[in-house]
Amino acid sequence: MKILNFGSCNIDFVYSVEQIVVPGETITTKGMEVFPGGKGLNQSIAIARAGASVYHAGCIGQDGVWLGELLAENGVDISYLKKLDAKNGHAVIQVSETGENSIFLYPGSNRMLTVEFIKEVLLSFSKGDILVLQNEVNLVDEMIRLAYEKGMQILLNPAPFTQELKRIDFNMISYLVLNEVEAKCFTGTEDAEESIAYLLEHYPDMRVILTLGKKGCIYADREQVMSYPAFCVDAVDTTAAGDTFTGYFIAMLAQGKSVREAIGLATAASALAVSKMGAATSIPTKSEVEKAMFDLKPYEVEKKSREAQISEKIDRYLSIHLQDANMDGLAEALGYTKVYAGELVKKVTNESFSALLQKKRCACAAGLLCETDLSVTDIINRVGYENESFFRKVFKEMYGENPLQYRKKRGAGRK
Ligand code: ADP
Repeated sequence: MKILNFGSCNIDFVYSVEQIVVPGETITTKGMEVFPGGKGLNQSIAIARAGASVYHAGCIGQDGVWLGELLAENGVDISYLKKLDAKNGHAVIQVSETGENSIFLYPGSNRMLTVEFIKEVLLSFSKGDILVLQNEVNLVDEMIRLAYEKGMQILLNPAPFTQELKRIDFNMISYLVLNEVEAKCFTGTEDAEESIAYLLEHYPDMRVILTLGKKGCIYADREQVMSYPAFCVDAVDTTAAGDTFTGYFIAMLAQGKSVREAIGLATAASALAVSKMGAATSIPTKSEVEKAMFDLKPYEVEKKSREAQISEKIDRYLSIHLQDANMDGLAEALGYTKVYAGELVKKVTNESFSALLQKKRCACAAGLLCETDLSVTDIINRVGYENESFFRKVFKEMYGENPLQYRKKRGAGRK
């Protein structure tokens, strides 16, 4: 299984300024540095540092030869990197004393891909190989279509998000890796769970990874939804966090790791990347990641509080709708699809919806048996059971005795 990354290589000119220049103003900068950049380049370096073989395809300009050399030094195969008689894509970045930045981008060589070149590169790849794409080059839609026709697996990192991406049929995408900003642009909601539900509802065969910065990430496919906390580090520069994550994730899958293992290593690699200054230079090697894995501790607090909130909502719904509770109603109350709401119930309560409902109904019945002298039939109606013998059976399984024995022992039912 080969990995082909068809993406951007950028030159980042970073200028230190007192304040970001405003219209009509001329300022003198305090310093200037040049860095390699581009999501394509970062992700290829991440894949290579994660120990997988990767081909980087794309176009560089006359001034971008050093970017190709950098890729090659990192073990990336650059046989499909084409040098054009043009200017390389570059970014002009102002960074103010207060840490604000302002960026403009000249796409140059990065947006000079042609259908002929793409077809020529794809000739060397076949069914089952992986195509990694971001959205900093032109003809992304064409690449997806051509690679899909060949039976390649496609990982798309829709960054930066542009409206043209909406024209792509995402049913052709195997893995979508996106951050919160991109998810909001795509799905129209800021809520992570809602975004996932939207994506899976529309593209059920896609595997989605939504990265949430220091809140970790959520992985979802048609069968499961899993969230992973990030590792707790002192973040100094979050540039290329997502690129490190994406590169490591796909490299690990290509090396036969499970999704869970791949996400674990990708999370550790990106935690190390954010604890160092720089983009490409901050991407760790696999041995650095494996060594650090033992010492890294996950952020648990935020994850727990999110789950606690969902658990509270489920509890509230069941209390209000004890008699007529059903999955459709719960899904509506939570604001998710029925399938996703069912997954959430299992995840936060460790039980199925129906087991949870029986528990709640029996607990309420037990309370009524002790605190009131309502007949068992009335109690059954109040808590929502239609079938008396079913209630008795469930109650006995849960409390070890039948409802009347339960009432008698606790001396209840009397005013
Ligand atoms: P992007 O760089 O594309 O905006 P994110 O900010 O979501 O992507 O980060 C990608 C991954 O990097 C996260 O899922 C997380 O594992 C890791 N990460 C990002 N920020 C931090 C942080 N402050 N501390 C630890 N890990 C982080």
